[in-house]
Amino acid sequence: MIAENLSTIKEQLPSGVTLVAVSKFHPAEAIVEAYEAGQRVFAESRPQELAAKIEALGAQYPDMEWHFIGHLQTNKLKLVLPHVALVHSVDSQKLLGEIDKWGKTAGKVTDVLLEMHVAQEDTKQGFAEEEILDLLFRVSDGLREDGTSKAYPNVRIRGFMAMATNTDEQESVRADFARVADFREYVADLFPELNLDVLSIGMSSDWKLALDYDTTMVRIGTAIFGERNY
Ligand SMILES: *Cc1c(COP(=O)(O)O)cnc(C)c1O
Repeated sequence: MIAENLSTIKEQLPSGVTLVAVSKFHPAEAIVEAYEAGQRVFAESRPQELAAKIEALGAQYPDMEWHFIGHLQTNKLKLVLPHVALVHSVDSQKLLGEIDKWGKTAGKVTDVLLEMHVAQEDTKQGFAEEEILDLLFRVSDGLREDGTSKAYPNVRIRGFMAMATNTDEQESVRADFARVADFREYVADLFPELNLDVLSIGMSSDWKLALDYDTTMVRIGTAIFGERNY
């Protein structure tokens, strides 16, 4: 079933869009099944679970690429950052600063996305637009050749992540995605020197809509692995 689900999705994904398989709450066997069907990029949203899965699979499958997509507390960085190619969910300047600090000690530059708050629920994490602008002014001011900055020498900001309002109303989801896409365009004009080329929007219920807003990464769990048992 997992292989079929993957191929159904991949048939419909444009070639420039990365499929991130969200394996949270699913066992290692499900991940291996997806791997054997050709999937390489996986994401988790809880630090402990990510660390456990890397522990179980990392040595045997060194070409699995792991992303982190959940809320990251600063005391959990060491469970996550050594293992991941991308953190989608940086939602505060404080967290960005802590990731940078960790990177200095660990000798690793971490690629991150800034999570933008657009959904109507209060519960969703993320930056407001003006906070992102403020941050990007500081970053672009001391930008270095490798994409890091004087402000954050151990972090590379690669783009944006967002979650649309959790609703069946397409128009509401489209409005959220349009807001992200418009902001992204505005920022690209304002800071052409920054390489903010990644846009991570779209989940099982709304990834097809996200394609209309130039998403470059879709994060899909349920439509690949089935319902989660929380
Ligand atoms: C769980 C999760 C997803 C995947 O959700 P599905 O609806 O199962 O596709 C995507 N993004 C984030 C941030 C998540 O936490």
